[in-house]
Amino acid sequence: ATLSNQIAAGEVIERPASVVKELAENAIDAQATQVDITVEEAGLKLIEILDNGIGIEAEDVPTAFLRHATSKILTTRDLFNVHSLGFRGEALASIAAVADVTMTTATDNGLGTKAHLRGGKLLTTEETASRRGTQLIVRDLFFNTPARLKYVKSQNTELARIVDIVNRLAMGHPEVAFTLRHNGKMVSRTAGHGDLQQTLAGIYGVSAAKSMLFFEGEDLDFKVSGYVSLPDTTRASQQYISLMINGRYIRNYKLTHAVIDGYGSKLMVGRYPLAVIDIAMDPLLVDVNVHPTKAEVRLSKEDQLRALISQSIRERLAKENLIPDA
Ligand code: ADP
Ligand code: MG
Repeated sequence: ATLSNQIAAGEVIERPASVVKELAENAIDAQATQVDITVEEAGLKLIEILDNGIGIEAEDVPTAFLRHATSKILTTRDLFNVHSLGFRGEALASIAAVADVTMTTATDNGLGTKAHLRGGKLLTTEETASRRGTQLIVRDLFFNTPARLKYVKSQNTELARIVDIVNRLAMGHPEVAFTLRHNGKMVSRTAGHGDLQQTLAGIYGVSAAKSMLFFEGEDLDFKVSGYVSLPDTTRASQQYISLMINGRYIRNYKLTHAVIDGYGSKLMVGRYPLAVIDIAMDPLLVDVNVHPTKAEVRLSKEDQLRALISQSIRERLAKENLIPDA
């Protein structure tokens, strides 16, 4: 696939969780340290994201909603560049095309800009009092694309996807404090103190996070590190195995199984570890055929990485077994 295929429009916003993902990534790109997310009816009624990032200058607000106006992509290696999650310059345009969007943004406390768009049309912009940062309110998602609306699953399924995305972003950014509320109830809250284990406590609970083991390992091409649960504190689903490359979450079947393999026979059948693993690597080793919005990626030297992950986890668990009564 060519790069232009990879960035093809219209594939960005498939469901409410895609909106949450893109807007939360924008907040992170804007160097926010606090990101507060509120959703109602699994995002179909309302998605609100408030950040304390750098904001947008008044004259740049209309441009931010233009497709590709801000595309920063230069080479495929940028896909896994550590410094920026956004690169296609089409998320805001795509969201505004299929919803009712209000943005309030300011680069300093004081005066800011409020813009209202619906179905891709910029209806109003005005000056407004605002704190530094950006607030996006998305209502009536897919109001003008009934086929897309039909495709959206039950609210429980959609909410689970939103929770999953926010949790994964939080794990990739322990320096950012996230809150996620659904229908008025707090769903997750992370501390944002820069400590991954503390972030895990906000997501999985204090006792689960505390019992996890830190591990690391490296070879010439990869550095892996993260937290894994003890073999007797596993979960019934492998969705609790989270993988990141350079802080960006990915899905990869073989690497997920490398984590499981690290436990060898210590795992009970049908039980999976709770694990979060970050892989630091040269972005050039990520397969260029990866689709930027689909998290499934292929890597060159995948078998080598697989072995490194399994072995690092195995060694860490072996070390633990040396402690009596552990
Ligand atoms: P991309 O993130 O790929 O550049 P987007 O459509 O997501 O494209 O955003 C367009 C531009 O709007 C961004 O490049 C950024 O300059 C600006 N922007 C979007 N969200 C925010 C935000 N929360 N804070 C500051 N600037 C933002
Ligand atoms: Mg973006």
